[in-house]
Amino acid sequence: MKTIGLIGGMSWESTAAYYRIINEEVKSRLGGLHSAKCVLYSVDFAEIQRYQAEGNWDKAGQYLGEVAYSLEQAGADFIVICTNTMHKVIEAMEARVRIPILHIADATYKQISKTNIRTVGLLGTKYTMEQTFYKSRLESSGLSVIIPNEAERDIVNHIIFKELCLGDIRPASREAYQGVIKSLIDQGAEAIILGCTEIGLLIGEDDSEVPLFDTTVIHAIQAVDHALD
Ligand code: GLU
Repeated sequence: MKTIGLIGGMSWESTAAYYRIINEEVKSRLGGLHSAKCVLYSVDFAEIQRYQAEGNWDKAGQYLGEVAYSLEQAGADFIVICTNTMHKVIEAMEARVRIPILHIADATYKQISKTNIRTVGLLGTKYTMEQTFYKSRLESSGLSVIIPNEAERDIVNHIIFKELCLGDIRPASREAYQGVIKSLIDQGAEAIILGCTEIGLLIGEDDSEVPLFDTTVIHAIQAVDHALD
């Protein structure tokens, strides 16, 4: 079994979900007392969030590059960045290590490509929804990606940073997300990508008329595929 290097803390609420899913998956595939070999480097999210707000992506990339290097030195065979947003700086991180980094958007596309779905709605932080680093990667694989309108993006982003990353799960916010999902479906979305690793803490299959692709679950399971390959 390969050793998974997890970069977590962004936020730790979703890192905890990754850790659980990865171990449950290894247990269900190998049985008995088997569990995942992994090394976790959990950062202080306040520091990362400050770089995001300042648009200081170079600094964030340098910092996460050093984190990736630490995981490589600690024996990780490959790396999983437990957030969609910080894949914005994956090139800087890849330049710092020799081991591969399993891209969350590629993992998600791989899962979607097993279906006939071609048009998806994307929910995530404002960085993930508005910037090209994530959307273009999906589009270049052949998907059409619809994002919420500006007012809806504000709501989705606000709930991520002010509630979900703090472990604050509110029924009113679930309803707000259901409304945004409905409007993406009305615009032609055949499925919704939960493109932020905390959204699965709020939204489940019952909250949507179309299939949901939860990037946390998809990424964690494909990490296990890779570890056991
Ligand atoms: N975990 C979130 C994501 O998947 C948001 C936190 C962050 O900005 O890294 O994008």
